[in-house]
Amino acid sequence: MLKDYEFWFVVGSQLLYGSEVLDTVKERAEEMAVRLSGASDIPCRIVYKATIKNDNECIEVMKQANMDERCAGVITWCHTFSPSKMWIHGLNLLQKPWCHFATQYNRKIPNLEIDMDFMNLNQAAHGDREHGFIGTRMRKNHKIVVGYWEDETVQKELGDWMRSAVGAAYSRKLKVVRFGDNMRDVAVTEGDKVEAAIKFGWTVDYWPVGHLVETMGGVTEAEIDAKIEEYKERYEFATEDQDAVRYQAKEELAIRKIMEREGAMAFSNNFQDLYGMEQLPGLASQNIMADGMGYGGEGDWKVAAMTTIMKQMGEGLEGGSAFMEDYTYDLEPGKEVSLGAHMLEVCPSVAAEKPRIEVHPLGIGDRQPPARLVFEGKPGKGIVVSVIDMGGRMRMIVQDIHCIKPILEMPNLPVARVMWEAEPDLLTGLKCWIMAGGAHHSVLSTQVTAQMMEDWADIMGIEFIHITKETTIESMKQQLFLNDLAWKLQ
Ligand code: MN
Repeated sequence: MLKDYEFWFVVGSQLLYGSEVLDTVKERAEEMAVRLSGASDIPCRIVYKATIKNDNECIEVMKQANMDERCAGVITWCHTFSPSKMWIHGLNLLQKPWCHFATQYNRKIPNLEIDMDFMNLNQAAHGDREHGFIGTRMRKNHKIVVGYWEDETVQKELGDWMRSAVGAAYSRKLKVVRFGDNMRDVAVTEGDKVEAAIKFGWTVDYWPVGHLVETMGGVTEAEIDAKIEEYKERYEFATEDQDAVRYQAKEELAIRKIMEREGAMAFSNNFQDLYGMEQLPGLASQNIMADGMGYGGEGDWKVAAMTTIMKQMGEGLEGGSAFMEDYTYDLEPGKEVSLGAHMLEVCPSVAAEKPRIEVHPLGIGDRQPPARLVFEGKPGKGIVVSVIDMGGRMRMIVQDIHCIKPILEMPNLPVARVMWEAEPDLLTGLKCWIMAGGAHHSVLSTQVTAQMMEDWADIMGIEFIHITKETTIESMKQQLFLNDLAWKLQ
């Protein structure tokens, strides 16, 4: 939960100006922290912590920030000038995300009253440059937000970065339960789980499907009854096959029990390994995702982890974030669109209408017809996100898209589906996506922005590729070439 985290506001100054100025700095910084915390676009509390006047104070506050579980990041600002040599040791120790907020307490220059006392107290223009230099000189990954602190656009930018920082804190504690291994022969769903633990903090452990089946055996009829009531509240029943729905409820309850026991917020499974199960979990997986957890099909633990991280980052925002798969295109010239879906498991957070529970046979997997949620995606601006293992480094690819109402009815398609136009256009975007190595699995989000993902990738220290309306094949080719060189040097 975003509310579980806070951000520390640490203000730069020095002893040169005397105690009166320092008292004013503290007072105003406290006021700014309180008012920012109350702003609608600021998702977590901002707490004023210290005015830094020397090396030791900086070291002390950064050490505390590292140790404090609630602290998801540090926001710094220089009300006065603050010599940056005294920030070096503290910033060197800082392990939490850092944002340099280049702002000013007053919006306007009081032209008639301005004197040198005012200049000494209000010299963010001076202080923030010295502060900026040391961040750059130290090659310290950090966010820079610039603008007047009471402006909505500035608060939105700061708030969005805070969401990325919480995503990073959440990622570092994330556990993914893998039921079964990756799908046989598939390459892009694979990856180095040790590298993922080092870079992202993920624990990605395997649990036998037999253990899941055994846990299903312990689910009671009363638990299933309660789950069916929940389904009735959330979804429309469009099937007479109660047994199929009850079986999904049993699967869901068992998956949740294991996840809860392990403290996991994401899971993957594989239709090739359903040993002892009658149905591929469809409705079960979808209803788990509806509560903020992540899922990846075919053993894709990377997309499972990213799904829950993005849900966490987007908490409370309009729209949704869903595990997605590119399926098929409509290639009418000039109007090209992509149709995304999955065998069953698309998260209802992106649904345009109340999802329907339906039961249909499944062409693959060799099991009973599974119950699943069927719906159309809601139109709106969005992104698709893919994380791939390049061998030696992780790469995130983000593409800007626009979800649309499907151009025609698809009465015979028994799965949830989302249709979208892509930037800069479907075919150019597709070529760039393929050149960058983007997967067929992605997280589609209409609540998290590309900027938030870029900030998250920066905090995690991974490569970031963004396909936008400005992207050309040439620019992408050059960026990929230069990135390859740059990352080889690291
Ligand atoms: Mn798939």
